[in-house]
Amino acid sequence: MHELSIAMNIVEIACEQAKINNLSAIDEIEIEVGELSGVEIDALKFVMEIAKKETILENSRTIFTLIPGLARCLICSKEFMTDSFFSQCPECKQFNFQIIQGQELRVKSLNVF
Ligand SMILES: [Zn+2]
Repeated sequence: MHELSIAMNIVEIACEQAKINNLSAIDEIEIEVGELSGVEIDALKFVMEIAKKETILENSRTIFTLIPGLARCLICSKEFMTDSFFSQCPECKQFNFQIIQGQELRVKSLNVF
């Protein structure tokens, strides 16, 4: 499963960060998931619980933040929200754009209370 390897990767990054910062436990991990990242948040939520087992994250809470897709038209420079790679510019009706936000998948923060 695609999401499981992502979850394991996230846990690995978090464990490395915890080590660097001398943390013995993490209470909360915040993950940012772009709407266009191709990752299903619900699936990721589920596998995160599996990936966290027997790690420093075992008892932590996972918070997911969805980052909406944002595109910039390469013809007229208009910026518009999109949830697809096949959108039409609302201004000039062209399909020539660059995704400027929404493809990210990253650990935003590790919190200890
Ligand atoms: Zn345009």
